Amino acid sequence: MSKILHYRSKCIGCGFCIEQQPAYWCMSKKDGKATLINSVGKNGLFILSIPVIQVQQSKNIAAACPVRIIKVQ
Ligand code: SF4
Repeated sequence: MSKILHYRSKCIGCGFCIEQQPAYWCMSKKDGKATLINSVGKNGLFILSIPVIQVQQSKNIAAACPVRIIKVQ
């Protein structure tokens, strides 16, 4: 298993991650930021375990996030 890490507070709500990977991301109607669905959050960092098959696409999204707040481990 790998992980997506989302440093959510700096999200600018561009919608790219949601467009590319709607199974994992949705837009919060509350604050207009992306939410990593089913993730566990602590101190503004949200973490979700993902299967290895999703890693490459997730890394591509992380690289394209305009504020670089997505990491894949
Ligand atoms: S790509 Fe980055 S800035 Fe854009 S919505 Fe997703 S997390 Fe936020």
